[in-house]
Amino acid sequence: MLKTVLLLTAALASSAVQAAEVVVYSARNEQLIKPLFDAYTKETGVAVKFVTDKEGPLMARLKAEGRNTPADLFMTVDAGNLWQAAEEGLLKPVDSKALKANIPAHLRDPGNSWFGLSVRARTLVYNTNKVKPGELASYEDLAGPKWKGRLCLRTSKKVYNQSLVATLIGEYGEAKTEAMVKGWVANLATDPFPDDTKAMEAVAAGLCDVTVVNTYYYGRLMEKKPSLPLAIFWPNQDQKGNTGVHVNVSGAGVTRYARNEAEAVKLLEWLSSEKAQNLYADVNMEYPANPKVKADPAVAAWGVFKQNLINVAEAGKLQAKAVMLMDRAGYK
Ligand code: FE
Repeated sequence: MLKTVLLLTAALASSAVQAAEVVVYSARNEQLIKPLFDAYTKETGVAVKFVTDKEGPLMARLKAEGRNTPADLFMTVDAGNLWQAAEEGLLKPVDSKALKANIPAHLRDPGNSWFGLSVRARTLVYNTNKVKPGELASYEDLAGPKWKGRLCLRTSKKVYNQSLVATLIGEYGEAKTEAMVKGWVANLATDPFPDDTKAMEAVAAGLCDVTVVNTYYYGRLMEKKPSLPLAIFWPNQDQKGNTGVHVNVSGAGVTRYARNEAEAVKLLEWLSSEKAQNLYADVNMEYPANPKVKADPAVAAWGVFKQNLINVAEAGKLQAKAVMLMDRAGYK
């Protein structure tokens, strides 16, 4: 009798494993991903288990676990991080018509190891009492003498700035980008800030006039303090060699040793679908990566802009160069 029960339990346990589940390692926090996975489970019956941590520890864990990893999908922010995971052999290329159709080419790995799922723009935010939007133009313009003592920046240690500078190198080459970054440093009103929000608060307080931040931090701050004298400006929108606002992604890739590979691909495809894209992007005030899906009205209210179409993978490829360049330029 006992033996029968044990056998039955074992059978149930193994059928439960076979009854489709996906395990996700996520550097996005629980409040952003749980509603999404709950919706997926409701729709498909497939259980989604997840572990959240910072991207560094999760990548180290994937590496240490090797073929024994329980993780099927790795999810994180910034193409620089996704590129790093692919470079370290932690991801497996996925050949999916749905993903190629849903996600524009510049927002996914050319080698198909990872796919952008939401878009954030790294754009300018200025003090509306001190700057007229017509005075702003481009990332490059912020290096000019008219912004002397008027610029605030986040630290160059953050991957977001490393990715921005890396893609600027991809666009303008190293020499021009180095001159640009040196110009920014010369224009700083004060030492770089530890995060985007503090940089914007300094702009609002009048310590400086303009900064460069990710759009969702602006959204979050203005939701909390709508009276702050801050507004978004979309740089590099003219046609004279200026090729658009720098964007980055949050995204995901199937792990190299995924046990539930087919289920991981299905979840990834679902995340890119019109059905899931708003659930994924809106909760963090990001833009859907799938161009068929409209942004949340609160986000759409910031206006339309032309994206830079350089592949976000450049953020990873040129990251080491960007870090060295910022060091040479004295950008702390
Ligand atoms: Fe962030």
